Amino acid sequence: MSRPTAPQAPVIVWFRRDLRLADNLALLNAARTGRPVIPLFILDETEGLRAAGAASRWWLDKSLAALARTLEACGSRLVLRRGEAAQIIEGLIRDTGATRVVWNRLYDPDLIDRDTRLKAALRSAGAQTESFSASLLTEPWLLKTKAGAPFKVFTPFWRTLRSEIAAFTLHSAPTSLPAPDAWPASDDLGGWGLHPRKPDWSGGFADWSPGEAGAHARLGAFLERRLAAYPTARDVPGVNGTSNLSPHLHWGEIGPRQVWRAAEGAAHHHPALASAAEKFLSELAWRDFNHQLLFHHPDMQTANFKQGFDGFPWRSDPAGLSAWKRGQTGYPMVDAGMRQLWTTGFMHNRVRMIAASFLIKHLLIDWREGERWFWDTLVDADEANNTGNWQWVAGSGADAAPFFRIFSPMGQGERFDPQGDYVQRWVPELAGLDPNAIHAPWKAPPEQLQRAGVVLGQTYPKPIVDHDFARNRALEALKSLKG
Ligand code: FAD
Repeated sequence: MSRPTAPQAPVIVWFRRDLRLADNLALLNAARTGRPVIPLFILDETEGLRAAGAASRWWLDKSLAALARTLEACGSRLVLRRGEAAQIIEGLIRDTGATRVVWNRLYDPDLIDRDTRLKAALRSAGAQTESFSASLLTEPWLLKTKAGAPFKVFTPFWRTLRSEIAAFTLHSAPTSLPAPDAWPASDDLGGWGLHPRKPDWSGGFADWSPGEAGAHARLGAFLERRLAAYPTARDVPGVNGTSNLSPHLHWGEIGPRQVWRAAEGAAHHHPALASAAEKFLSELAWRDFNHQLLFHHPDMQTANFKQGFDGFPWRSDPAGLSAWKRGQTGYPMVDAGMRQLWTTGFMHNRVRMIAASFLIKHLLIDWREGERWFWDTLVDADEANNTGNWQWVAGSGADAAPFFRIFSPMGQGERFDPQGDYVQRWVPELAGLDPNAIHAPWKAPPEQLQRAGVVLGQTYPKPIVDHDFARNRALEALKSLKG
Protein backbone atom coordinates (compact mmCIF):
# COMPACT_ATOMS: atom_id res chain seq x y z
CA MET A 1 0.00 0.00 0.00
CA SER A 2 1.57 3.38 -0.96
CA ARG A 3 1.66 5.86 1.89
CA PRO A 4 -0.44 9.00 1.36
CA THR A 5 1.10 12.44 1.86
CA ALA A 6 0.49 14.06 5.23
CA PRO A 7 -2.45 16.39 4.35
CA GLN A 8 -4.28 13.38 3.00
CA ALA A 9 -3.11 10.98 5.70
CA PRO A 10 -6.16 9.08 6.94
CA VAL A 11 -7.72 9.45 10.35
CA ILE A 12 -8.60 6.23 12.18
CA VAL A 13 -11.89 6.33 14.08
CA TRP A 14 -11.74 3.60 16.66
CA PHE A 15 -15.35 2.54 17.37
CA ARG A 16 -15.85 0.84 20.72
CA ARG A 17 -19.15 1.26 22.56
CA ASP A 18 -20.33 4.14 20.38
CA LEU A 19 -21.73 2.12 17.48
CA ARG A 20 -23.57 5.00 15.84
CA LEU A 21 -23.01 7.78 13.33
CA ALA A 22 -25.15 10.54 14.85
CA ASP A 23 -23.78 12.57 17.75
CA ASN A 24 -20.58 10.59 17.63
CA LEU A 25 -17.98 13.20 18.50
CA ALA A 26 -14.93 11.16 17.50
CA LEU A 27 -16.41 10.43 14.09
CA LEU A 28 -17.49 14.02 13.68
CA ASN A 29 -13.98 15.20 14.53
CA ALA A 30 -12.48 12.87 11.92
CA ALA A 31 -15.02 13.88 9.27
CA ARG A 32 -14.29 17.55 9.86
CA THR A 33 -10.62 17.12 8.99
CA GLY A 34 -11.71 16.42 5.40
CA ARG A 35 -9.17 13.62 5.32
CA PRO A 36 -9.91 9.97 4.50
CA VAL A 37 -11.56 8.22 7.41
CA ILE A 38 -10.90 4.61 8.39
CA PRO A 39 -13.62 3.34 10.75
CA LEU A 40 -12.22 0.52 12.86
CA PHE A 41 -13.64 -1.92 15.40
CA ILE A 42 -11.30 -4.17 17.38
CA LEU A 43 -12.43 -7.28 19.19
CA ASP A 44 -9.86 -7.00 21.95
CA GLU A 45 -10.00 -10.08 24.15
CA THR A 46 -6.60 -9.54 25.73
CA GLU A 47 -6.16 -11.03 29.16
CA GLY A 48 -6.93 -8.49 31.83
CA LEU A 49 -9.92 -7.07 29.95
CA ARG A 50 -13.29 -8.47 30.94
CA ALA A 51 -14.59 -10.51 28.01
CA ALA A 52 -18.14 -9.77 26.88
CA GLY A 53 -20.73 -12.32 27.99
CA ALA A 54 -22.57 -14.57 25.57
CA ALA A 55 -25.68 -12.38 25.26
CA SER A 56 -23.54 -9.27 24.70
CA ARG A 57 -21.62 -11.08 21.97
CA TRP A 58 -24.90 -11.88 20.25
CA TRP A 59 -25.82 -8.20 20.39
CA LEU A 60 -22.43 -7.01 19.21
CA ASP A 61 -22.59 -9.28 16.18
CA LYS A 62 -25.81 -7.64 14.96
CA SER A 63 -24.81 -4.15 15.97
CA LEU A 64 -21.55 -4.30 14.02
CA ALA A 65 -23.39 -5.55 10.96
CA ALA A 66 -25.80 -2.60 11.27
CA LEU A 67 -22.95 -0.12 11.73
CA ALA A 68 -21.14 -1.51 8.68
CA ARG A 69 -24.30 -1.00 6.60
CA THR A 70 -24.74 2.62 7.68
CA LEU A 71 -21.08 3.34 7.00
CA GLU A 72 -21.40 1.80 3.56
CA ALA A 73 -24.32 4.11 2.86
CA CYS A 74 -21.86 6.98 3.50
CA GLY A 75 -19.35 5.57 1.01
CA SER A 76 -17.25 4.11 3.80
CA ARG A 77 -16.60 0.75 5.43
CA LEU A 78 -16.08 -0.80 8.84
CA VAL A 79 -12.68 -2.44 9.23
CA LEU A 80 -12.85 -5.34 11.68
CA ARG A 81 -9.80 -6.65 13.46
CA ARG A 82 -9.33 -9.04 16.35
CA GLY A 83 -6.43 -8.87 18.83
CA GLU A 84 -4.65 -6.50 21.12
CA ALA A 85 -5.76 -2.92 20.40
CA ALA A 86 -2.30 -1.36 20.59
CA GLN A 87 -0.77 -3.83 18.15
CA ILE A 88 -3.61 -3.51 15.70
CA ILE A 89 -3.70 0.27 15.69
CA GLU A 90 0.08 0.53 15.38
CA GLY A 91 -0.02 -1.95 12.48
CA LEU A 92 -2.79 -0.01 10.75
CA ILE A 93 -0.87 3.25 11.13
CA ARG A 94 2.11 1.59 9.47
CA ASP A 95 0.01 0.13 6.66
CA THR A 96 -2.19 3.11 5.86
CA GLY A 97 -0.02 6.11 6.76
CA ALA A 98 -2.70 7.33 9.17
CA THR A 99 -1.41 10.05 11.46
CA ARG A 100 -4.36 10.58 13.74
CA VAL A 101 -6.48 8.21 15.86
CA VAL A 102 -9.67 9.31 17.62
CA TRP A 103 -12.18 7.56 19.87
CA ASN A 104 -14.89 8.18 22.42
CA ARG A 105 -14.00 7.55 26.05
CA LEU A 106 -15.06 4.54 28.14
CA TYR A 107 -14.78 4.48 31.90
CA ASP A 108 -14.42 0.85 32.99
CA PRO A 109 -11.18 0.70 35.02
CA ASP A 110 -9.50 -1.93 32.81
CA LEU A 111 -10.33 0.06 29.68
CA ILE A 112 -9.08 3.32 31.17
CA ASP A 113 -5.73 1.61 31.87
CA ARG A 114 -5.51 0.19 28.36
CA ASP A 115 -6.49 3.44 26.65
CA THR A 116 -4.10 5.54 28.74
CA ARG A 117 -1.18 3.27 27.84
CA LEU A 118 -2.20 3.22 24.20
CA LYS A 119 -2.53 6.97 23.99
CA ALA A 120 0.97 7.44 25.42
CA ALA A 121 2.46 4.84 23.04
CA LEU A 122 0.82 6.35 19.97
CA ARG A 123 1.87 9.85 20.90
CA SER A 124 5.45 8.85 21.51
CA ALA A 125 5.40 7.18 18.07
CA GLY A 126 4.39 10.53 16.58
CA ALA A 127 0.66 9.95 15.99
CA GLN A 128 -1.98 12.42 17.12
CA THR A 129 -4.69 11.02 19.36
CA GLU A 130 -7.76 12.59 20.85
CA SER A 131 -10.65 11.18 22.84
CA PHE A 132 -14.16 12.56 23.25
CA SER A 133 -17.16 12.31 25.53
CA ALA A 134 -20.10 10.51 23.95
CA SER A 135 -21.38 7.80 26.26
CA LEU A 136 -22.47 9.62 29.42
CA LEU A 137 -24.50 12.71 30.17
CA THR A 138 -21.52 14.20 31.93
CA GLU A 139 -17.93 13.17 32.56
CA PRO A 140 -17.67 11.06 35.73
CA TRP A 141 -15.14 13.38 37.36
CA LEU A 142 -17.07 16.61 36.85
CA LEU A 143 -19.88 16.62 39.41
CA LYS A 144 -18.85 17.05 43.03
CA THR A 145 -20.58 17.52 46.37
CA LYS A 146 -20.36 20.90 48.11
CA ALA A 147 -17.37 19.50 49.98
CA GLY A 148 -15.68 18.79 46.65
CA ALA A 149 -15.96 14.99 46.90
CA PRO A 150 -17.51 12.55 44.42
CA PHE A 151 -21.16 11.73 45.11
CA LYS A 152 -22.09 8.58 46.99
CA VAL A 153 -25.80 9.32 47.25
CA PHE A 154 -28.05 9.39 44.21
CA THR A 155 -30.56 12.15 45.05
CA PRO A 156 -28.04 14.99 45.47
CA PHE A 157 -26.15 13.65 42.46
CA TRP A 158 -29.36 13.84 40.42
CA ARG A 159 -30.23 17.34 41.68
CA THR A 160 -26.77 18.57 40.74
CA LEU A 161 -26.79 16.87 37.36
CA ARG A 162 -30.26 18.24 36.63
CA SER A 163 -29.27 21.79 37.45
CA GLU A 164 -25.77 21.75 36.00
CA ILE A 165 -26.24 19.84 32.80
CA ALA A 166 -25.14 22.44 30.33
CA ALA A 167 -27.00 23.27 27.15
CA PHE A 168 -25.49 20.78 24.77
CA THR A 169 -25.49 20.56 21.01
CA LEU A 170 -26.40 17.33 19.28
CA HIS A 171 -24.56 16.59 16.06
CA SER A 172 -26.12 14.96 13.02
CA ALA A 173 -24.62 11.94 11.35
CA PRO A 174 -22.24 12.66 8.48
CA THR A 175 -23.84 11.88 5.13
CA SER A 176 -20.60 10.93 3.45
CA LEU A 177 -17.14 9.99 4.62
CA PRO A 178 -14.03 10.27 2.44
CA ALA A 179 -12.54 6.84 1.77
CA PRO A 180 -8.81 6.05 1.81
CA ASP A 181 -7.13 5.27 -1.52
CA ALA A 182 -6.96 1.63 -0.52
CA TRP A 183 -8.88 -0.09 2.25
CA PRO A 184 -6.92 -2.08 4.79
CA ALA A 185 -7.92 -5.73 5.12
CA SER A 186 -10.81 -6.55 7.40
CA ASP A 187 -11.85 -9.73 9.21
CA ASP A 188 -15.12 -11.34 8.27
CA LEU A 189 -17.66 -10.68 11.05
CA GLY A 190 -19.13 -14.18 10.74
CA GLY A 191 -15.67 -15.61 11.39
CA TRP A 192 -15.63 -14.09 14.88
CA GLY A 193 -18.26 -16.57 16.01
CA LEU A 194 -20.18 -14.01 18.09
CA HIS A 195 -23.50 -15.58 17.18
CA PRO A 196 -24.08 -18.74 19.21
CA ARG A 197 -24.03 -22.06 17.39
CA LYS A 198 -24.43 -25.61 18.61
CA PRO A 199 -26.77 -24.81 20.18
CA ASP A 200 -28.12 -21.53 18.90
CA TRP A 201 -30.03 -20.44 22.02
CA SER A 202 -30.91 -16.99 20.67
CA GLY A 203 -34.38 -17.74 19.24
CA GLY A 204 -36.02 -15.67 22.00
CA PHE A 205 -33.90 -12.60 21.16
CA ALA A 206 -35.89 -11.96 17.97
CA ASP A 207 -37.69 -8.89 19.31
CA TRP A 208 -34.45 -6.95 19.60
CA SER A 209 -33.20 -4.77 16.75
CA PRO A 210 -29.55 -3.98 17.52
CA GLY A 211 -28.15 -0.95 15.74
CA GLU A 212 -28.66 2.78 15.53
CA ALA A 213 -31.95 2.60 13.60
CA GLY A 214 -33.33 0.04 16.07
CA ALA A 215 -32.36 2.30 18.98
CA HIS A 216 -34.16 5.30 17.51
CA ALA A 217 -37.22 3.21 16.69
CA ARG A 218 -37.36 2.03 20.35
CA LEU A 219 -36.97 5.56 21.66
CA GLY A 220 -39.63 6.93 19.30
CA ALA A 221 -42.15 4.21 20.17
CA PHE A 222 -41.51 4.68 23.89
CA LEU A 223 -41.94 8.44 23.86
CA GLU A 224 -45.05 8.26 21.74
CA ARG A 225 -46.86 5.40 23.44
CA ARG A 226 -45.43 4.70 26.89
CA LEU A 227 -43.86 7.81 28.38
CA ALA A 228 -47.15 9.12 29.82
CA ALA A 229 -47.69 6.01 31.96
CA TYR A 230 -43.99 5.43 32.72
CA PRO A 231 -43.95 6.58 36.38
CA THR A 232 -46.34 3.80 37.37
CA ALA A 233 -46.06 1.27 34.52
CA ARG A 234 -42.27 1.06 34.91
CA ASP A 235 -42.75 -1.09 37.98
CA VAL A 236 -45.20 -3.55 36.46
CA PRO A 237 -43.33 -6.39 34.79
CA GLY A 238 -46.43 -7.75 33.05
CA VAL A 239 -46.76 -4.67 30.84
CA ASN A 240 -44.33 -3.19 28.38
CA GLY A 241 -43.94 0.02 30.34
CA THR A 242 -40.27 0.97 30.00
CA SER A 243 -38.06 2.08 27.14
CA ASN A 244 -35.94 -1.10 26.69
CA LEU A 245 -33.13 1.20 25.68
CA SER A 246 -30.46 -0.22 27.99
CA PRO A 247 -28.63 -2.49 25.49
CA HIS A 248 -28.74 0.27 22.87
CA LEU A 249 -27.29 2.69 25.40
CA HIS A 250 -24.64 0.21 26.50
CA TRP A 251 -23.36 -0.22 22.95
CA GLY A 252 -23.72 3.48 22.22
CA GLU A 253 -26.13 2.96 19.35
CA ILE A 254 -27.81 5.97 20.84
CA GLY A 255 -26.19 8.40 23.25
CA PRO A 256 -27.77 9.43 26.58
CA ARG A 257 -27.75 13.07 25.48
CA GLN A 258 -29.84 12.15 22.45
CA VAL A 259 -32.28 10.33 24.73
CA TRP A 260 -32.32 13.27 27.14
CA ARG A 261 -33.03 15.79 24.41
CA ALA A 262 -35.79 13.66 22.89
CA ALA A 263 -37.54 13.18 26.25
CA GLU A 264 -37.31 16.89 27.01
CA GLY A 265 -38.64 17.59 23.53
CA ALA A 266 -41.64 15.32 24.12
CA ALA A 267 -42.39 17.17 27.36
CA HIS A 268 -41.99 20.51 25.63
CA HIS A 269 -44.54 19.59 22.95
CA HIS A 270 -46.94 17.97 25.42
CA PRO A 271 -46.60 19.70 28.80
CA ALA A 272 -48.77 16.99 30.38
CA LEU A 273 -45.81 14.65 29.88
CA ALA A 274 -43.42 16.83 31.88
CA SER A 275 -43.49 14.93 35.16
CA ALA A 276 -43.29 11.55 33.41
CA ALA A 277 -40.32 12.79 31.39
CA GLU A 278 -38.67 13.97 34.59
CA LYS A 279 -39.04 10.53 36.14
CA PHE A 280 -37.59 8.92 33.02
CA LEU A 281 -34.62 11.32 32.99
CA SER A 282 -33.90 10.59 36.64
CA GLU A 283 -33.75 6.87 35.84
CA LEU A 284 -31.41 7.62 32.97
CA ALA A 285 -29.24 9.48 35.47
CA TRP A 286 -28.72 6.27 37.49
CA ARG A 287 -26.57 5.16 34.59
CA ASP A 288 -24.29 8.16 35.02
CA PHE A 289 -24.36 7.74 38.80
CA ASN A 290 -23.14 4.13 38.54
CA HIS A 291 -20.44 5.11 36.09
CA GLN A 292 -19.11 7.82 38.34
CA LEU A 293 -19.12 5.41 41.28
CA LEU A 294 -17.07 2.86 39.36
CA PHE A 295 -14.78 5.59 38.08
CA HIS A 296 -13.97 6.75 41.61
CA HIS A 297 -13.99 3.25 43.13
CA PRO A 298 -12.41 1.07 40.44
CA ASP A 299 -12.32 -2.07 42.59
CA MET A 300 -16.11 -2.00 43.02
CA GLN A 301 -16.58 -4.69 40.43
CA THR A 302 -15.09 -7.28 42.74
CA ALA A 303 -14.92 -5.63 46.16
CA ASN A 304 -17.71 -4.46 48.47
CA PHE A 305 -18.16 -0.72 48.26
CA LYS A 306 -18.80 -0.79 52.02
CA GLN A 307 -15.92 -2.68 53.47
CA GLY A 308 -18.04 -3.52 56.51
CA PHE A 309 -19.52 -6.29 54.35
CA ASP A 310 -16.18 -7.97 53.76
CA GLY A 311 -16.65 -10.63 56.41
CA PHE A 312 -20.20 -11.52 55.38
CA PRO A 313 -20.86 -15.24 55.93
CA TRP A 314 -21.80 -16.17 52.37
CA ARG A 315 -22.86 -19.79 51.81
CA SER A 316 -21.59 -22.13 49.16
CA ASP A 317 -24.73 -23.64 47.64
CA PRO A 318 -24.14 -24.98 44.12
CA ALA A 319 -27.60 -26.60 43.97
CA GLY A 320 -29.32 -23.37 45.03
CA LEU A 321 -27.29 -21.33 42.57
CA SER A 322 -28.14 -23.72 39.77
CA ALA A 323 -31.88 -23.66 40.64
CA TRP A 324 -31.77 -19.86 40.62
CA LYS A 325 -30.04 -19.70 37.25
CA ARG A 326 -32.52 -22.14 35.70
CA GLY A 327 -35.63 -20.48 37.17
CA GLN A 328 -36.46 -23.51 39.34
CA THR A 329 -36.51 -22.05 42.85
CA GLY A 330 -40.20 -22.68 43.45
CA TYR A 331 -40.79 -18.92 43.88
CA PRO A 332 -42.79 -17.88 40.80
CA MET A 333 -41.64 -14.23 40.56
CA VAL A 334 -37.99 -15.25 40.83
CA ASP A 335 -38.38 -18.09 38.35
CA ALA A 336 -40.32 -15.93 35.89
CA GLY A 337 -37.54 -13.34 35.93
CA MET A 338 -34.73 -15.85 35.51
CA ARG A 339 -36.54 -17.49 32.62
CA GLN A 340 -37.24 -14.16 30.93
CA LEU A 341 -33.53 -13.45 31.24
CA TRP A 342 -32.47 -16.79 29.77
CA THR A 343 -34.97 -16.60 26.92
CA THR A 344 -34.72 -12.94 25.89
CA GLY A 345 -31.43 -11.65 27.34
CA PHE A 346 -33.41 -9.13 29.41
CA MET A 347 -35.19 -8.97 32.74
CA HIS A 348 -37.56 -6.30 33.95
CA ASN A 349 -35.94 -3.96 36.49
CA ARG A 350 -38.40 -4.73 39.31
CA VAL A 351 -37.81 -8.44 38.83
CA ARG A 352 -34.01 -7.97 38.69
CA MET A 353 -34.32 -6.58 42.20
CA ILE A 354 -36.50 -9.48 43.36
CA ALA A 355 -34.30 -12.17 41.77
CA ALA A 356 -31.07 -10.58 43.00
CA SER A 357 -32.47 -10.16 46.50
CA PHE A 358 -33.50 -13.83 46.54
CA LEU A 359 -30.02 -15.01 45.62
CA ILE A 360 -28.32 -12.76 48.15
CA LYS A 361 -30.71 -12.87 51.07
CA HIS A 362 -32.77 -16.08 50.75
CA LEU A 363 -29.84 -18.21 49.60
CA LEU A 364 -27.02 -16.14 51.15
CA ILE A 365 -25.03 -16.55 47.94
CA ASP A 366 -22.39 -13.90 47.29
CA TRP A 367 -23.66 -11.08 45.05
CA ARG A 368 -20.61 -11.60 42.81
CA GLU A 369 -22.02 -14.97 41.68
CA GLY A 370 -25.19 -13.25 40.56
CA GLU A 371 -23.29 -10.43 38.93
CA ARG A 372 -21.35 -12.98 36.86
CA TRP A 373 -24.50 -14.75 35.71
CA PHE A 374 -26.14 -11.48 34.69
CA TRP A 375 -22.92 -10.47 32.93
CA ASP A 376 -23.15 -13.55 30.76
CA THR A 377 -26.87 -13.54 30.09
CA LEU A 378 -28.00 -9.88 29.86
CA VAL A 379 -27.98 -8.12 26.51
CA ASP A 380 -27.47 -4.89 28.45
CA ALA A 381 -24.67 -6.30 30.67
CA ASP A 382 -22.67 -3.29 31.73
CA GLU A 383 -19.81 -3.22 34.18
CA ALA A 384 -20.89 -0.06 36.02
CA ASN A 385 -24.63 -0.72 36.04
CA ASN A 386 -24.44 -4.39 36.85
CA THR A 387 -21.97 -4.00 39.70
CA GLY A 388 -23.67 -0.88 41.04
CA ASN A 389 -27.08 -2.51 41.09
CA TRP A 390 -25.95 -5.84 42.55
CA GLN A 391 -24.22 -3.99 45.36
CA TRP A 392 -27.30 -1.81 45.76
CA VAL A 393 -29.46 -4.89 46.35
CA ALA A 394 -26.83 -6.52 48.60
CA GLY A 395 -26.68 -3.45 50.82
CA SER A 396 -22.91 -3.30 50.34
CA GLY A 397 -23.12 -0.53 47.71
CA ALA A 398 -23.27 3.24 47.78
CA ASP A 399 -26.71 4.59 48.68
CA ALA A 400 -27.84 0.96 48.81
CA ALA A 401 -31.05 -0.64 50.01
CA PRO A 402 -30.39 -1.73 53.60
CA PHE A 403 -29.66 -5.45 53.87
CA PHE A 404 -32.36 -5.97 56.50
CA ARG A 405 -35.05 -4.92 54.02
CA ILE A 406 -35.71 -8.39 52.67
CA PHE A 407 -38.12 -8.66 49.75
CA SER A 408 -40.83 -11.26 49.98
CA PRO A 409 -41.10 -12.68 46.45
CA MET A 410 -44.78 -13.39 47.14
CA GLY A 411 -45.50 -9.87 48.43
CA GLN A 412 -43.65 -8.32 45.51
CA GLY A 413 -45.62 -10.52 43.10
CA GLU A 414 -48.97 -9.61 44.65
CA ARG A 415 -48.10 -5.92 44.52
CA PHE A 416 -46.51 -5.60 41.10
CA ASP A 417 -48.05 -8.53 39.22
CA PRO A 418 -51.50 -8.62 40.82
CA GLN A 419 -53.18 -10.51 37.98
CA GLY A 420 -50.22 -12.86 37.60
CA ASP A 421 -49.71 -11.85 33.93
CA TYR A 422 -45.93 -11.89 34.17
CA VAL A 423 -45.76 -15.25 35.93
CA GLN A 424 -48.28 -16.77 33.53
CA ARG A 425 -46.13 -15.73 30.62
CA TRP A 426 -42.79 -17.01 31.90
CA VAL A 427 -43.89 -19.90 34.11
CA PRO A 428 -46.63 -21.35 31.92
CA GLU A 429 -46.97 -24.47 34.06
CA LEU A 430 -48.65 -22.22 36.67
CA ALA A 431 -50.89 -20.37 34.19
CA GLY A 432 -54.04 -22.18 35.32
CA LEU A 433 -53.78 -20.90 38.92
CA ASP A 434 -55.93 -18.00 40.14
CA PRO A 435 -54.11 -14.67 40.53
CA ASN A 436 -54.43 -14.93 44.30
CA ALA A 437 -52.59 -18.25 44.34
CA ILE A 438 -50.08 -17.84 41.56
CA HIS A 439 -47.37 -16.17 43.66
CA ALA A 440 -47.45 -18.85 46.38
CA PRO A 441 -48.64 -22.08 44.75
CA TRP A 442 -47.73 -24.13 47.84
CA LYS A 443 -50.52 -22.32 49.69
CA ALA A 444 -53.14 -23.00 46.99
CA PRO A 445 -56.01 -25.35 47.91
CA PRO A 446 -55.37 -28.89 46.58
CA GLU A 447 -58.46 -28.77 44.33
CA GLN A 448 -57.20 -25.59 42.65
CA LEU A 449 -53.79 -27.13 42.07
CA GLN A 450 -55.45 -30.19 40.61
CA ARG A 451 -57.70 -28.12 38.36
CA ALA A 452 -54.67 -26.16 37.12
CA GLY A 453 -52.69 -29.36 36.48
CA VAL A 454 -50.01 -28.34 39.00
CA VAL A 455 -48.27 -31.08 40.97
CA LEU A 456 -45.75 -29.41 43.25
CA GLY A 457 -42.42 -31.17 43.17
CA GLN A 458 -43.29 -32.59 39.73
CA THR A 459 -44.69 -30.04 37.29
CA TYR A 460 -43.26 -27.12 39.30
CA PRO A 461 -40.73 -27.20 42.16
CA LYS A 462 -41.58 -26.79 45.80
CA PRO A 463 -39.78 -23.74 47.30
CA ILE A 464 -36.09 -24.61 47.63
CA VAL A 465 -35.98 -22.75 50.92
CA ASP A 466 -38.74 -21.68 53.32
CA HIS A 467 -39.29 -17.93 53.22
CA ASP A 468 -39.53 -17.32 56.99
CA PHE A 469 -36.54 -19.56 57.70
CA ALA A 470 -34.50 -17.79 55.00
CA ARG A 471 -35.49 -14.39 56.27
CA ASN A 472 -34.41 -15.17 59.84
CA ARG A 473 -31.20 -16.77 58.62
CA ALA A 474 -30.35 -13.66 56.59
CA LEU A 475 -30.98 -11.38 59.57
CA GLU A 476 -28.80 -13.63 61.75
CA ALA A 477 -26.05 -13.44 59.14
CA LEU A 478 -26.26 -9.67 59.20
CA LYS A 479 -26.09 -9.68 63.01
CA SER A 480 -23.01 -11.88 62.96
CA LEU A 481 -21.37 -9.39 60.63
CA LYS A 482 -22.14 -6.54 62.99
CA GLY A 483 -20.95 -8.61 65.94
P1 FAD B 1 -35.95 2.44 31.60
O1 FAD B 1 -36.79 2.31 32.81
O2 FAD B 1 -36.63 2.73 30.31
O3 FAD B 1 -34.81 3.44 31.91
C1 FAD B 1 -34.11 4.18 30.90
C2 FAD B 1 -32.63 3.96 31.04
O4 FAD B 1 -32.16 4.42 32.29
C3 FAD B 1 -32.21 2.50 30.99
O5 FAD B 1 -32.11 2.04 29.66
C4 FAD B 1 -30.86 2.54 31.70
O6 FAD B 1 -29.83 2.95 30.84
C5 FAD B 1 -31.09 3.62 32.75
N1 FAD B 1 -31.45 2.98 34.02
C6 FAD B 1 -32.69 2.74 34.50
N2 FAD B 1 -32.61 2.17 35.71
C7 FAD B 1 -31.30 2.04 36.00
C8 FAD B 1 -30.57 1.54 37.10
N3 FAD B 1 -31.18 1.05 38.20
N4 FAD B 1 -29.22 1.57 37.05
C9 FAD B 1 -28.58 2.07 35.97
N5 FAD B 1 -29.22 2.57 34.90
C10 FAD B 1 -30.56 2.56 34.92
N6 FAD B 1 -28.80 -1.97 33.70
C11 FAD B 1 -27.93 -2.05 32.69
O7 FAD B 1 -27.99 -1.21 31.77
N7 FAD B 1 -26.98 -3.02 32.64
C12 FAD B 1 -26.86 -3.96 33.62
O8 FAD B 1 -25.96 -4.81 33.56
C13 FAD B 1 -27.78 -3.92 34.70
N8 FAD B 1 -27.75 -4.85 35.68
C14 FAD B 1 -28.64 -4.78 36.72
C15 FAD B 1 -28.56 -5.72 37.76
C16 FAD B 1 -29.46 -5.68 38.81
C17 FAD B 1 -29.35 -6.69 39.94
C18 FAD B 1 -30.45 -4.69 38.84
C19 FAD B 1 -31.44 -4.62 39.98
C20 FAD B 1 -30.54 -3.74 37.83
C21 FAD B 1 -29.63 -3.77 36.77
N9 FAD B 1 -29.67 -2.80 35.73
C22 FAD B 1 -28.76 -2.87 34.72
C23 FAD B 1 -30.55 -1.61 35.84
C24 FAD B 1 -31.93 -1.72 35.21
O9 FAD B 1 -32.57 -2.92 35.58
C25 FAD B 1 -31.90 -1.64 33.68
O10 FAD B 1 -31.12 -0.53 33.27
C26 FAD B 1 -33.31 -1.45 33.13
O11 FAD B 1 -34.13 -2.54 33.52
C27 FAD B 1 -33.27 -1.35 31.64
O12 FAD B 1 -34.56 -1.32 31.12
P2 FAD B 1 -35.08 -0.06 30.32
O13 FAD B 1 -34.07 0.34 29.31
O14 FAD B 1 -36.44 -0.41 29.81
O15 FAD B 1 -35.15 1.02 31.46
